[in-house]
Amino acid sequence: MEIAISPHLLASANDYVAAAAVFPMRANNYVIEELIDWSRAPDDPIFRLVFPQPDMLQHDQLQVIKNAMDRDSSRIEMRDIVEGIRNLLNPHPANQKQENVPHVNGQPVEGMQHKYRETCLFFPTEGQYCHSYCTYCFRWAQFTAVGSDQQFQSKDVQQLVDYIKENRDLTDILFTGGDPMVMHAHQFSRYIDAILADPGTEHLGTIRIGSKSLSYWPYRYVTDPDSQEMLGVFEKIVKSGRHLSIMAHFSHPVELASPAVQEAMRRIRNTGANIRCQAPLIRGVNDQASIWAEMWRKQTRLGAIPYYMFVERDTGAKHHFEVPLARAYEIYKEAVSSVAGTARTVQGPSMSASPGKIQVVGITTVPTASGPEKVFVLRFLQARNPAWTKEVFFAKFDENASWLSDLKPAFGEKEFFYESQYRELVQRPGSSGQLFPLTGSMVARV
Ligand SMILES: *Cc1c(COP(=O)(O)O)cnc(C)c1O
Ligand code: SF4
Repeated sequence: MEIAISPHLLASANDYVAAAAVFPMRANNYVIEELIDWSRAPDDPIFRLVFPQPDMLQHDQLQVIKNAMDRDSSRIEMRDIVEGIRNLLNPHPANQKQENVPHVNGQPVEGMQHKYRETCLFFPTEGQYCHSYCTYCFRWAQFTAVGSDQQFQSKDVQQLVDYIKENRDLTDILFTGGDPMVMHAHQFSRYIDAILADPGTEHLGTIRIGSKSLSYWPYRYVTDPDSQEMLGVFEKIVKSGRHLSIMAHFSHPVELASPAVQEAMRRIRNTGANIRCQAPLIRGVNDQASIWAEMWRKQTRLGAIPYYMFVERDTGAKHHFEVPLARAYEIYKEAVSSVAGTARTVQGPSMSASPGKIQVVGITTVPTASGPEKVFVLRFLQARNPAWTKEVFFAKFDENASWLSDLKPAFGEKEFFYESQYRELVQRPGSSGQLFPLTGSMVARV
């Protein structure tokens, strides 16, 4: 295939090469040929989604790399420069490496996070990369540090099953990564078979798979050699009397347009699985209400369920991608009010912060004794302490704030209602940060 690349892009090609030296980059022919409109690059949304952008680096960082390229630096020198810059970018937001990791007999359970009582995350070893990489990914440490302690992962099937059995409040397990759908069907079914075979996991009602495969490689379910086998595993889950939910990651309506993705969605739904859709709001990729409205309409039409709109996390090159909370709320409100109720199932904009998932519910002005005060209305969609869920609270309005850490309590309060409890909880010696009773003998330290 011939690709006509825009002259604007060619003019700055070196900057893109420099950015790709720092940020992991991966794209396949489906993304390159069917999703990116090269005549629109560098402004094309999918180009921005998969090609590391020069502005993700500070100007001087970019310059250092370009200079090193110009003088043909040795690989070792280049590696040191790149690693120096990577180390300045925080790859694990919201204290994920310390908190949320459950313990069995005092030992951390590898490859697992359990932050909310009903749902735990599992990171299978074989699923620690993706079909293509998103520029904003906060998991890239996983991809650049294979085998190091930056990786969450596990292949311990028995430990997974034991953990489920011992935690009777768990109703959902979410396979995540990377992307679990990069696994071969027989690798994935190893985990599933073990869960389904054990009568002690009956309380687990829902298996979720977090995946970008529908967007980046829909052939996974259509023509890949193990596509039928994977769909067979999905059917097996449904036949066990459980709900299977594919948590599909769609960032832009163009990802829902190809015959391949529509066929893949049809096949997945034919297994009895549901598809729920989620994505972060990313500047320059999908920061317009019309984009989200179109995406939710298309998803609903294709039988999928819009689920979450996320605020870009406080990590890495956030400065490049961030959309202020006030603007995120405007986009959400405008988009949601232009679609029918069947497509209004999406919760957002939501910050996955350390205390929990916090939604911006509204912006309003409240009369107080010292005059009217403009505030953000916030609430927990998910919380470390289940009792905080749906609790509404208020922050001073700030049009530039883009994360929870930028927000101050409204009405002269010193801190948000949950903060003292949260502090107590994370400071408790040996705590892994949950604030709900984990059941069962395996959990020694919470
Ligand atoms: C979002 C999320 C979940 C799932 O939450 P639901 O509201 O049940 O979809 C589970 N664990 C973590 C850490 C999450 O961020
Ligand atoms: S699909 Fe998710 S995990 Fe994979 S690169 Fe994109 S953001 Fe990262």
